[in-house]
Amino acid sequence: MFAHIHQNVTEILGILPEHVTLVAAGKTRRPEELQAAADAGVCIIGHNYVQEAQAAVDALGRPVRWHMIGHLQRNKAKLAVELFDMVETVDSLRLARALDKAAGEAGKRLPVLIEVNSGREDNKHGAEPNSVKQLAQDICECQHLELQGLMTMGPFLEEAESMRPYFQLTRELFDGLRGMNLPGADLQFLSMGMSDSYAVAIEEGANLVRIGTSLFGARA
Ligand SMILES: *Cc1c(COP(=O)(O)O)cnc(C)c1O
Repeated sequence: MFAHIHQNVTEILGILPEHVTLVAAGKTRRPEELQAAADAGVCIIGHNYVQEAQAAVDALGRPVRWHMIGHLQRNKAKLAVELFDMVETVDSLRLARALDKAAGEAGKRLPVLIEVNSGREDNKHGAEPNSVKQLAQDICECQHLELQGLMTMGPFLEEAESMRPYFQLTRELFDGLRGMNLPGADLQFLSMGMSDSYAVAIEEGANLVRIGTSLFGARA
């Protein structure tokens, strides 16, 4: 029934270089579709909404890992800590502190990425590029968080090639952080690129790509 998903996953896993990990962007997909992707070899599923993720985790369980890839509200921190193996979208110290507290209460250390607003767009979430260093240092003070890298969306542009500068900027920030030898951080992930842009993102250093449409088809 979901042969196309199986085929798409197999094809993309075949294209991705070995050092790049696929995150299936699961928003709006039914649990059966996510299960088909997992059966075909997807190891990480990303979700944008806590409620939707809860339903998916309940249905699929934990043979896959779960990443939060959408904007997270502080009042959902506790549930997010329960559900997700990584939050890719930390963009403020207030959110980091809420997650730190919830992770401490849960007796966990939560892997997080900083989301960078690489296009400096008013209507987008993510930390301003200029504030990333300070935020990274502050996150390293949070005992129950482990900073593992950066994530960016970039502006929505028709041409993947036009997104290259935003990926480059995020890569430069990532390299800058790595050069700081932040105590307690383990900077290994650069999450950039979606269905239309992952090839360019990988050229610019992405090693996590978040792909929805090319796996599951167009969203309704
Ligand atoms: C939906 C989504 C994706 C995947 O987008 P596609 O174009 O469907 O591949 C990646 N990242 C985030 C944060 C998303 O919300």
